[in-house]
Amino acid sequence: MTSLDDLPIRDDLRGKEPYGAPQLDVPYALNTNENPYPPSERLVKALGDAVADVAGTLNRYPDRDAVALRADLAAFLDTDTPGAGLTVDRVWAANGSNEILLQILQAFGGPGRTALGFEPSYSMHPVITEVSGTRWVNAFRDEDFGLEAARAVAAVEEHRPDVVFLTSPNNPTGTALTLDAIKAVLEVAPGMVVVDEAYAEFRRSGTPSALTLLDGHPRLIVTRTMSKAFAMAGARLGYLAADPAVVEALLLVRLPYHLSAVTQAVARTALAHGEELLGGVEALRRERDDLVGWLRAEGLTVADSDANFVLFGTFPDRRAVWEGLLERGVLIREVGPPEWLRVSVGTPAEMAAFRTALKESL
Ligand SMILES: *Cc1c(COP(=O)(O)O)cnc(C)c1O
Repeated sequence: MTSLDDLPIRDDLRGKEPYGAPQLDVPYALNTNENPYPPSERLVKALGDAVADVAGTLNRYPDRDAVALRADLAAFLDTDTPGAGLTVDRVWAANGSNEILLQILQAFGGPGRTALGFEPSYSMHPVITEVSGTRWVNAFRDEDFGLEAARAVAAVEEHRPDVVFLTSPNNPTGTALTLDAIKAVLEVAPGMVVVDEAYAEFRRSGTPSALTLLDGHPRLIVTRTMSKAFAMAGARLGYLAADPAVVEALLLVRLPYHLSAVTQAVARTALAHGEELLGGVEALRRERDDLVGWLRAEGLTVADSDANFVLFGTFPDRRAVWEGLLERGVLIREVGPPEWLRVSVGTPAEMAAFRTALKESL
Protein backbone atom coordinates (compact mmCIF):
# COMPACT_ATOMS: atom_id res chain seq x y z
CA MET A 1 0.00 0.00 0.00
CA THR A 2 1.27 3.43 -0.93
CA SER A 3 0.99 6.07 1.77
CA LEU A 4 0.92 9.80 1.18
CA ASP A 5 4.50 10.00 2.48
CA ASP A 6 5.67 7.73 -0.35
CA LEU A 7 4.51 10.18 -3.00
CA PRO A 8 6.70 12.99 -4.33
CA ILE A 9 4.32 15.57 -2.87
CA ARG A 10 5.49 19.20 -2.44
CA ASP A 11 7.66 19.51 0.67
CA ASP A 12 5.51 22.30 2.05
CA LEU A 13 2.41 20.06 1.96
CA ARG A 14 3.98 17.20 3.93
CA GLY A 15 2.33 16.63 7.29
CA LYS A 16 -0.60 18.96 6.55
CA GLU A 17 -4.18 18.03 7.44
CA PRO A 18 -7.07 18.65 5.04
CA TYR A 19 -9.71 21.28 5.96
CA GLY A 20 -11.97 19.46 8.35
CA ALA A 21 -15.03 21.05 9.90
CA PRO A 22 -16.71 17.80 11.04
CA GLN A 23 -19.63 16.83 8.79
CA LEU A 24 -21.64 14.75 11.28
CA ASP A 25 -25.24 13.65 10.93
CA VAL A 26 -26.84 15.38 13.92
CA PRO A 27 -30.32 16.78 14.60
CA TYR A 28 -28.94 20.32 15.10
CA ALA A 29 -26.01 21.33 12.85
CA LEU A 30 -24.94 24.78 14.03
CA ASN A 31 -21.30 24.58 12.99
CA THR A 32 -20.74 25.96 9.48
CA ASN A 33 -22.72 29.22 9.44
CA GLU A 34 -25.16 28.12 6.78
CA ASN A 35 -28.56 29.75 6.46
CA PRO A 36 -30.95 27.21 8.08
CA TYR A 37 -33.85 27.98 5.75
CA PRO A 38 -33.96 25.72 2.65
CA PRO A 39 -35.35 27.06 -0.64
CA SER A 40 -39.15 27.23 -0.87
CA GLU A 41 -41.05 24.80 -3.10
CA ARG A 42 -41.51 27.62 -5.60
CA LEU A 43 -37.78 28.26 -5.76
CA VAL A 44 -36.96 24.54 -5.92
CA LYS A 45 -39.21 24.37 -8.98
CA ALA A 46 -37.58 27.44 -10.55
CA LEU A 47 -34.10 26.00 -9.93
CA GLY A 48 -35.14 22.70 -11.51
CA ASP A 49 -36.53 24.52 -14.55
CA ALA A 50 -33.35 26.57 -14.92
CA VAL A 51 -31.20 23.44 -14.83
CA ALA A 52 -33.52 21.73 -17.34
CA ASP A 53 -33.11 24.72 -19.65
CA VAL A 54 -29.32 24.40 -19.75
CA ALA A 55 -29.32 20.59 -19.70
CA GLY A 56 -29.89 20.48 -23.46
CA THR A 57 -26.75 22.55 -24.08
CA LEU A 58 -24.34 20.74 -21.77
CA ASN A 59 -22.41 19.39 -24.79
CA ARG A 60 -21.10 22.97 -25.11
CA TYR A 61 -18.78 24.87 -22.77
CA PRO A 62 -20.44 27.55 -20.65
CA ASP A 63 -19.95 31.31 -21.03
CA ARG A 64 -16.31 31.54 -19.94
CA ASP A 65 -16.78 35.03 -18.56
CA ALA A 66 -20.20 34.45 -16.95
CA VAL A 67 -21.29 37.87 -18.17
CA ALA A 68 -25.04 37.56 -17.52
CA LEU A 69 -24.45 36.27 -14.00
CA ARG A 70 -21.92 39.02 -13.24
CA ALA A 71 -24.42 41.64 -14.42
CA ASP A 72 -27.02 40.17 -12.04
CA LEU A 73 -24.49 40.20 -9.18
CA ALA A 74 -23.59 43.84 -9.92
CA ALA A 75 -27.29 44.75 -9.84
CA PHE A 76 -27.69 42.94 -6.52
CA LEU A 77 -24.72 44.77 -4.99
CA ASP A 78 -26.23 48.07 -6.06
CA THR A 79 -29.37 47.30 -4.06
CA ASP A 80 -27.30 46.03 -1.10
CA THR A 81 -25.13 49.13 -1.04
CA PRO A 82 -26.86 51.97 -2.92
CA GLY A 83 -24.42 54.18 -4.74
CA ALA A 84 -21.77 51.47 -5.08
CA GLY A 85 -22.22 51.98 -8.83
CA LEU A 86 -21.08 48.51 -9.77
CA THR A 87 -21.07 47.26 -13.33
CA VAL A 88 -20.34 43.90 -14.89
CA ASP A 89 -16.67 44.76 -15.54
CA ARG A 90 -16.12 45.33 -11.80
CA VAL A 91 -17.58 42.02 -10.64
CA TRP A 92 -16.08 38.54 -10.93
CA ALA A 93 -17.53 35.14 -9.93
CA ALA A 94 -16.13 31.69 -9.09
CA ASN A 95 -16.97 28.43 -7.31
CA GLY A 96 -17.38 29.82 -3.81
CA SER A 97 -15.47 32.77 -2.46
CA ASN A 98 -12.72 30.32 -1.54
CA GLU A 99 -11.97 29.96 -5.25
CA ILE A 100 -12.11 33.74 -5.57
CA LEU A 101 -9.48 33.99 -2.82
CA LEU A 102 -7.29 31.38 -4.52
CA GLN A 103 -7.46 33.27 -7.81
CA ILE A 104 -6.53 36.51 -6.02
CA LEU A 105 -3.46 34.82 -4.53
CA GLN A 106 -2.53 33.22 -7.84
CA ALA A 107 -2.59 36.65 -9.46
CA PHE A 108 -1.14 38.81 -6.66
CA GLY A 109 0.70 36.34 -4.39
CA GLY A 110 2.83 33.31 -5.23
CA PRO A 111 6.40 32.23 -4.49
CA GLY A 112 8.52 35.00 -2.97
CA ARG A 113 5.44 36.99 -1.97
CA THR A 114 3.58 37.31 1.33
CA ALA A 115 0.01 37.66 2.55
CA LEU A 116 -0.88 39.05 5.95
CA GLY A 117 -3.97 38.45 8.09
CA PHE A 118 -5.14 39.41 11.57
CA GLU A 119 -5.97 36.43 13.75
CA PRO A 120 -8.21 35.12 15.06
CA SER A 121 -9.81 35.04 11.63
CA TYR A 122 -10.96 32.72 8.88
CA SER A 123 -8.85 29.57 9.00
CA MET A 124 -8.87 29.18 5.21
CA HIS A 125 -6.97 32.43 4.56
CA PRO A 126 -3.60 30.95 5.62
CA VAL A 127 -4.43 27.60 4.00
CA ILE A 128 -5.29 29.08 0.60
CA THR A 129 -2.31 31.43 0.89
CA GLU A 130 0.15 28.58 1.44
CA VAL A 131 -1.43 26.33 -1.18
CA SER A 132 -0.75 29.11 -3.70
CA GLY A 133 2.93 29.15 -2.70
CA THR A 134 2.56 32.47 -0.90
CA ARG A 135 4.14 33.00 2.54
CA TRP A 136 1.64 33.62 5.35
CA VAL A 137 2.31 36.26 7.99
CA ASN A 138 0.21 36.45 11.09
CA ALA A 139 -0.72 39.64 12.90
CA PHE A 140 -3.28 39.92 15.68
CA ARG A 141 -6.58 41.63 16.37
CA ASP A 142 -7.27 43.70 19.48
CA GLU A 143 -8.28 42.11 22.78
CA ASP A 144 -12.00 42.57 21.92
CA PHE A 145 -11.41 41.10 18.42
CA GLY A 146 -11.76 44.51 16.77
CA LEU A 147 -8.86 46.06 14.88
CA GLU A 148 -7.64 49.53 15.70
CA ALA A 149 -6.37 51.41 12.67
CA ALA A 150 -2.99 52.07 14.31
CA ARG A 151 -2.40 48.39 15.08
CA ALA A 152 -3.34 47.37 11.53
CA VAL A 153 -1.13 50.03 10.00
CA ALA A 154 1.84 49.02 12.15
CA ALA A 155 1.57 45.39 11.03
CA VAL A 156 1.29 46.33 7.36
CA GLU A 157 4.25 48.71 7.61
CA GLU A 158 6.34 46.08 9.38
CA HIS A 159 5.68 43.22 6.95
CA ARG A 160 4.98 45.05 3.66
CA PRO A 161 2.72 42.21 2.43
CA ASP A 162 1.66 41.77 -1.19
CA VAL A 163 -1.86 40.88 -0.04
CA VAL A 164 -3.65 41.94 3.16
CA PHE A 165 -6.71 40.06 4.38
CA LEU A 166 -9.30 41.95 6.40
CA THR A 167 -12.41 40.00 7.35
CA SER A 168 -15.49 42.03 8.17
CA PRO A 169 -17.67 40.83 9.78
CA ASN A 170 -14.90 38.57 11.00
CA ASN A 171 -15.17 34.79 11.26
CA PRO A 172 -15.04 33.27 13.92
CA THR A 173 -15.53 36.34 16.12
CA GLY A 174 -18.44 38.11 14.35
CA THR A 175 -16.85 41.54 14.80
CA ALA A 176 -16.98 44.08 11.97
CA LEU A 177 -14.22 46.55 11.12
CA THR A 178 -14.62 50.30 10.93
CA LEU A 179 -14.19 51.96 7.55
CA ASP A 180 -11.47 54.06 9.18
CA ALA A 181 -9.37 50.97 9.85
CA ILE A 182 -9.85 49.74 6.28
CA LYS A 183 -9.01 53.18 4.85
CA ALA A 184 -5.89 53.39 7.00
CA VAL A 185 -4.70 50.01 5.69
CA LEU A 186 -5.43 51.07 2.10
CA GLU A 187 -3.26 54.12 2.64
CA VAL A 188 -0.16 52.18 3.65
CA ALA A 189 -0.56 48.77 1.98
CA PRO A 190 2.01 48.26 -0.78
CA GLY A 191 -0.14 45.58 -2.47
CA MET A 192 -3.72 44.39 -2.67
CA VAL A 193 -6.21 44.69 0.21
CA VAL A 194 -8.91 42.02 0.35
CA VAL A 195 -11.94 42.69 2.53
CA ASP A 196 -13.69 39.34 2.99
CA GLU A 197 -17.37 40.22 3.48
CA ALA A 198 -18.81 36.69 3.49
CA TYR A 199 -21.29 37.76 6.20
CA ALA A 200 -21.99 41.34 5.06
CA GLU A 201 -25.75 40.87 4.65
CA PHE A 202 -26.05 40.07 8.37
CA ARG A 203 -24.37 43.25 9.59
CA ARG A 204 -26.25 45.40 12.09
CA SER A 205 -27.73 48.62 10.73
CA GLY A 206 -25.14 51.36 10.71
CA THR A 207 -22.26 48.95 9.98
CA PRO A 208 -20.92 50.03 6.57
CA SER A 209 -19.66 47.82 3.73
CA ALA A 210 -16.22 48.29 2.17
CA LEU A 211 -18.03 48.46 -1.18
CA THR A 212 -18.41 52.17 -0.47
CA LEU A 213 -14.61 52.53 -0.62
CA LEU A 214 -14.11 50.98 -4.06
CA ASP A 215 -14.10 54.30 -5.90
CA GLY A 216 -10.61 55.75 -5.77
CA HIS A 217 -9.06 52.53 -4.35
CA PRO A 218 -8.05 50.33 -7.31
CA ARG A 219 -6.18 47.93 -5.01
CA LEU A 220 -9.22 47.14 -2.88
CA ILE A 221 -11.07 43.86 -3.46
CA VAL A 222 -14.34 43.11 -1.65
CA THR A 223 -15.31 39.43 -1.66
CA ARG A 224 -18.81 38.10 -1.07
CA THR A 225 -20.56 34.74 -1.26
CA MET A 226 -23.97 33.19 -1.84
CA SER A 227 -23.13 30.50 0.75
CA LYS A 228 -24.28 32.34 3.85
CA ALA A 229 -27.11 34.92 3.78
CA PHE A 230 -28.16 33.81 0.30
CA ALA A 231 -28.80 30.27 1.57
CA MET A 232 -27.00 28.67 -1.39
CA ALA A 233 -23.94 27.01 0.19
CA GLY A 234 -24.54 23.90 -1.91
CA ALA A 235 -24.49 25.85 -5.17
CA ARG A 236 -20.88 27.07 -4.68
CA LEU A 237 -20.94 30.66 -5.83
CA GLY A 238 -18.63 33.38 -4.59
CA TYR A 239 -17.87 36.75 -6.14
CA LEU A 240 -15.94 39.97 -5.78
CA ALA A 241 -16.22 43.64 -6.57
CA ALA A 242 -13.12 45.61 -7.52
CA ASP A 243 -11.56 47.82 -10.15
CA PRO A 244 -11.96 46.46 -13.72
CA ALA A 245 -8.17 46.01 -13.85
CA VAL A 246 -8.40 43.49 -10.99
CA VAL A 247 -10.91 41.45 -12.98
CA GLU A 248 -8.48 41.56 -15.92
CA ALA A 249 -5.75 40.18 -13.66
CA LEU A 250 -7.94 37.29 -12.54
CA LEU A 251 -8.73 36.37 -16.15
CA LEU A 252 -5.04 35.48 -16.44
CA VAL A 253 -5.17 32.81 -13.74
CA ARG A 254 -8.71 31.39 -13.80
CA LEU A 255 -9.11 28.01 -15.43
CA PRO A 256 -11.03 28.21 -18.69
CA TYR A 257 -14.77 27.56 -18.16
CA HIS A 258 -14.29 27.34 -14.40
CA LEU A 259 -17.94 28.14 -13.66
CA SER A 260 -20.27 25.45 -15.00
CA ALA A 261 -23.40 26.29 -16.99
CA VAL A 262 -25.40 24.61 -14.21
CA THR A 263 -23.81 26.80 -11.53
CA GLN A 264 -24.40 29.94 -13.57
CA ALA A 265 -28.05 29.06 -14.18
CA VAL A 266 -28.65 28.15 -10.53
CA ALA A 267 -27.00 31.33 -9.25
CA ARG A 268 -28.95 33.56 -11.66
CA THR A 269 -32.21 31.92 -10.62
CA ALA A 270 -31.35 32.36 -6.95
CA LEU A 271 -30.56 36.04 -7.56
CA ALA A 272 -33.89 36.48 -9.34
CA HIS A 273 -35.48 35.19 -6.10
CA GLY A 274 -33.16 37.26 -3.95
CA GLU A 275 -35.95 38.82 -1.96
CA GLU A 276 -37.20 35.42 -0.86
CA LEU A 277 -33.74 34.06 -0.09
CA LEU A 278 -32.68 37.12 1.87
CA GLY A 279 -36.09 37.17 3.56
CA GLY A 280 -34.70 34.97 6.33
CA VAL A 281 -31.85 37.35 7.09
CA GLU A 282 -33.95 39.73 9.17
CA ALA A 283 -35.19 36.87 11.36
CA LEU A 284 -31.64 35.53 11.73
CA ARG A 285 -30.32 38.93 12.79
CA ARG A 286 -33.02 39.18 15.46
CA GLU A 287 -32.32 35.60 16.58
CA ARG A 288 -28.61 36.50 16.74
CA ASP A 289 -29.20 39.56 18.90
CA ASP A 290 -31.46 37.51 21.20
CA LEU A 291 -28.79 34.84 21.46
CA VAL A 292 -26.08 37.36 22.38
CA GLY A 293 -28.37 38.78 25.07
CA TRP A 294 -29.24 35.33 26.44
CA LEU A 295 -25.63 34.14 26.61
CA ARG A 296 -24.62 37.33 28.43
CA ALA A 297 -27.52 36.90 30.85
CA GLU A 298 -26.17 33.40 31.53
CA GLY A 299 -22.96 35.04 32.65
CA LEU A 300 -20.90 34.12 29.61
CA THR A 301 -18.55 36.38 27.66
CA VAL A 302 -19.74 37.07 24.13
CA ALA A 303 -18.08 38.88 21.24
CA ASP A 304 -20.22 41.51 19.48
CA SER A 305 -21.62 39.92 16.33
CA ASP A 306 -22.50 41.40 12.94
CA ALA A 307 -22.72 37.89 11.46
CA ASN A 308 -24.98 34.83 11.66
CA PHE A 309 -22.93 33.20 14.41
CA VAL A 310 -21.78 34.05 17.89
CA LEU A 311 -18.44 33.44 19.61
CA PHE A 312 -18.81 32.83 23.32
CA GLY A 313 -16.75 31.63 26.27
CA THR A 314 -14.66 31.40 28.14
CA PHE A 315 -14.17 27.75 29.01
CA PRO A 316 -10.97 26.35 30.49
CA ASP A 317 -12.02 23.03 28.86
CA ARG A 318 -13.99 23.98 25.78
CA ARG A 319 -13.75 20.44 24.39
CA ALA A 320 -15.90 19.21 27.30
CA VAL A 321 -18.60 21.80 26.57
CA TRP A 322 -18.49 21.02 22.83
CA GLU A 323 -18.86 17.30 23.59
CA GLY A 324 -21.67 17.93 26.06
CA LEU A 325 -23.60 19.69 23.31
CA LEU A 326 -22.83 16.99 20.76
CA GLU A 327 -24.13 14.30 23.15
CA ARG A 328 -27.40 16.24 23.10
CA GLY A 329 -27.51 16.36 19.31
CA VAL A 330 -26.17 19.89 18.90
CA LEU A 331 -23.04 20.32 16.78
CA ILE A 332 -21.23 23.64 17.15
CA ARG A 333 -17.65 24.61 16.23
CA GLU A 334 -14.53 24.37 18.29
CA VAL A 335 -12.63 27.15 16.56
CA GLY A 336 -10.85 30.42 17.25
CA PRO A 337 -9.14 31.43 20.48
CA PRO A 338 -8.55 28.44 22.79
CA GLU A 339 -11.26 29.06 25.39
CA TRP A 340 -14.08 30.05 23.05
CA LEU A 341 -16.76 28.24 21.03
CA ARG A 342 -18.73 29.38 17.99
CA VAL A 343 -22.39 28.65 17.35
CA SER A 344 -24.21 29.43 14.10
CA VAL A 345 -27.61 31.07 14.34
CA GLY A 346 -30.36 28.67 13.26
CA THR A 347 -34.14 28.53 13.38
CA PRO A 348 -35.97 29.33 16.64
CA ALA A 349 -36.37 25.57 17.25
CA GLU A 350 -32.66 24.96 16.70
CA MET A 351 -31.72 27.80 19.05
CA ALA A 352 -34.09 26.48 21.72
CA ALA A 353 -32.34 23.09 21.46
CA PHE A 354 -28.97 24.82 21.72
CA ARG A 355 -29.99 26.78 24.82
CA THR A 356 -31.30 23.69 26.59
CA ALA A 357 -28.25 21.62 25.65
CA LEU A 358 -25.83 24.35 26.73
CA LYS A 359 -27.51 24.81 30.11
CA GLU A 360 -27.34 21.05 30.70
CA SER A 361 -23.71 20.90 29.61
CA LEU A 362 -22.43 23.67 31.85
C1 LIG B 1 -17.74 30.78 4.70
C2 LIG B 1 -16.68 31.78 4.41
C3 LIG B 1 -16.17 32.00 3.13
C4 LIG B 1 -16.51 31.21 1.97
O1 LIG B 1 -17.19 30.42 1.57
P1 LIG B 1 -17.60 29.90 0.14
O2 LIG B 1 -18.63 28.91 0.49
O3 LIG B 1 -16.37 29.34 -0.49
O4 LIG B 1 -18.12 31.08 -0.62
C5 LIG B 1 -15.25 32.99 2.91
N1 LIG B 1 -14.82 33.76 3.91
C6 LIG B 1 -15.26 33.60 5.15
C7 LIG B 1 -14.76 34.50 6.21
C8 LIG B 1 -16.19 32.60 5.45
O5 LIG B 1 -16.58 32.42 6.71
